Amino acid sequence: MHKLSILAITVVLALLLVDSPAAQSPQFDLILKNGRIIDGSGSPWYRGDVAIRGDMIVKIASAISEPATRVIDVQNEVIAPGFIDIHTHARGGIFQVPTAENYVRQGVTTLIEGPDGSSPVPLKPFFDKLEALPKSVNIGSFIGQGAVRAAVIGNANRTPNAEELEKMRALVEQGMKDGAFGLSSGLFYVPGTFTPTDEVIELARVAGRYRGIYISHMRDEAAGVVDSVKETIAIGERGGLPTQVTHHKIIGPANWGKSTDTLRLIDEARARGVDATIDQYPYTASSTSIQAALLPAWAQEGGRAETLKRLKDPQTRARIKTETIRIIKNERGGGDPKNIVIAACGWDATLAGKNLADVTRLRGMELTVENAAEAALWLIESGGCSGIFHAINEADLERILKHPATMIGSDGEIPIFGKEHPHPRSYGTFARVLAVYVRERHAITLEEAVRKMSSFPAQRLGLQDRGILRPGMKADIAVFDPARVRDAATFERPHQYAEGVSTVIVNGQVVFERGSMTSARSGTVLYHRQ
Ligand SMILES: [Zn+2]
Repeated sequence: MHKLSILAITVVLALLLVDSPAAQSPQFDLILKNGRIIDGSGSPWYRGDVAIRGDMIVKIASAISEPATRVIDVQNEVIAPGFIDIHTHARGGIFQVPTAENYVRQGVTTLIEGPDGSSPVPLKPFFDKLEALPKSVNIGSFIGQGAVRAAVIGNANRTPNAEELEKMRALVEQGMKDGAFGLSSGLFYVPGTFTPTDEVIELARVAGRYRGIYISHMRDEAAGVVDSVKETIAIGERGGLPTQVTHHKIIGPANWGKSTDTLRLIDEARARGVDATIDQYPYTASSTSIQAALLPAWAQEGGRAETLKRLKDPQTRARIKTETIRIIKNERGGGDPKNIVIAACGWDATLAGKNLADVTRLRGMELTVENAAEAALWLIESGGCSGIFHAINEADLERILKHPATMIGSDGEIPIFGKEHPHPRSYGTFARVLAVYVRERHAITLEEAVRKMSSFPAQRLGLQDRGILRPGMKADIAVFDPARVRDAATFERPHQYAEGVSTVIVNGQVVFERGSMTSARSGTVLYHRQ
């Protein structure tokens, strides 16, 4: 070919490559246009576009006009960081429902497992299994103090010897090395309840050395709630690590109002330099196993077989029943058997949704608190159930929510849609805060609510690259209509997805849009790195 022709062709090709937009690969994979950006910091919203490349946010500006593979016009909806749930019981459900649709539809993009002292021990095989699972959300875990203790000395009510304590320390250390975000405890539960404060501090110190936090379902959320908050603060203070009261609530009418004292304790601790914080779900009922809630701890020592043996002995049974009556009257029962609702019984699916008054009558007994206690013991002997307990007061809930050191955590799970009768928090927590406590009651601002769901838990967990909308951060994003977002799940009909969240992005991929989950499974396992 003639030299000049070659030159001409080369020039034309070069021009095509440089100048033609068609030949250029788009600068961005996705642009969210026309949003009201709430960046997670608590600052007021501002109008703008957000551009994503790969799994990252790469540009935020009032208008972005460069080419993109895809543009979504969000039409004035809120663009917020994907919500981070610091307290979930998702480790069973994630393998059955890897989309975690109940959470994603609320705008949640990260779930933290291993709460209440309960986690897999060791964590590594669990993380490996999660790595192999295609999933729509990010997931991480705490290492659980109760599970560690059970692995070393079982459910015994005794203190460990030096060698056993060393084993516990080693298990916590391994958990932290495997990527746990800190140490969780459930000092209300067996075997956590048998743990003296000093023993918890010994293990908390290990987590602290790895820059983890301590997070606790406290020993007592009812009559002893003030002392329990003191204990949680002391564990942080003496253990040398950040400490958190998880799902803070005040249980039982006799104790309502005590949040004034517990919040003052948190303020005083913070004032003297203790890094103490709180998380909370926005419901006036709690949920746990009927056995854990309605039996005294001593009756549960040694496991189920031992509990059943105690219930068979008439004298011991009478002592247990006295305690159960007291708990129904003053604590989780809120003074009325109707306040205790069955979530699920593995041995009889028809009981889900019935309350303890119903069960008492079903057993052919007249409805008294004494007979309701008898019915509860029958449920436990028959195989046990999980329950929902209406015994929290709205004023305490709102007072705790308004506190600047309170973040949002669901304490929920990933249910199979339509199965059993779970607490609605699994479907509604984050949407409910936005609908009821921001839009209806003006208890907190929208920006403050988003902060409590994004940058605050991210900061607590040491997640440096999530929880805030900024170039360079991972693209975990929730888009929602602030006028329409709401929880639909109720205690009567819990299996209802939240509404008003239009688009959810996890690691740059759209996992939810136009009312349904996409095929993207872009969630990753998150590890704590010191
Ligand atoms: Zn808990």
